[in-house]
Amino acid sequence: MSRTPIIAANWKMNIGPAEAKTFLAGLKNEFSCQCSKSCDVVIVPPYITIPAVMETLGDCKCIGVGAQNVSQYDNGAYTGEISTTMLNELGLAYVVLGHSERRQYFGETDAIINAKIKKTLAAKLTPIFCIGETKEERLGGKLEEVLKTQIVDGLKDLTPAEVETIVIAYEPVWAIGTGLTATSKEAQEAHAYIRGVLADTFGQATADKVRIQYGGSVKPENAAELMAQPDIDGALVGGAALKPDSFAAIVKASC
Ligand code: PGA
Repeated sequence: MSRTPIIAANWKMNIGPAEAKTFLAGLKNEFSCQCSKSCDVVIVPPYITIPAVMETLGDCKCIGVGAQNVSQYDNGAYTGEISTTMLNELGLAYVVLGHSERRQYFGETDAIINAKIKKTLAAKLTPIFCIGETKEERLGGKLEEVLKTQIVDGLKDLTPAEVETIVIAYEPVWAIGTGLTATSKEAQEAHAYIRGVLADTFGQATADKVRIQYGGSVKPENAAELMAQPDIDGALVGGAALKPDSFAAIVKASC
């Protein structure tokens, strides 16, 4: 089954509008905006930086843009929130949902994430749905149980046709921003397990179509080996995506 890899830069709460312009100038030096069919490349800036990124990318349509979160509510009295309607107005394509930092620091539960995924799909945006276990859960033998619950509850009530369009990011929490990367074997085993849960829940044909990114201390040095694994279809990159040269090197190693 051939799945187009998707490499996404998750800037988290870094890079404001002015810095984004400098970053993109650097990125355009590293690789041209010739659309390559071999990979999807996505930048996920903070909300406030999105317009500057869209404007600076201009005709460089090969780079997609995403948001790091979205509200599960429609426009209204929800101070501090951003709706899918507003994201549609900007014309971006992706929304990262369920990142472990949202789960850990902002109390997002599987039920909230499920509501956000439904809102995102209804707005014709592509969710990048993050799952992953903590170190304690892995050491306690709970890896599979945790991933299964996150998948089944996060994707509750979705149809196979909807699930096919979603990107899943497997991000072991212990590997995020720590410099500790899952070995390619550990990552492949988790990805194969995730695809198995998708097959049991939504059917094998759907599971074969879903792209599953790996995230957690991906860098230029380890990207190629991770991406060579049969069930790894791209990367969600944090720290190493804050510099154009290292992000471009990861894209080149992966595509
Ligand atoms: P990291 O972050 O690459 O800095 O580990 C990945 C992520 O949290 O998406």
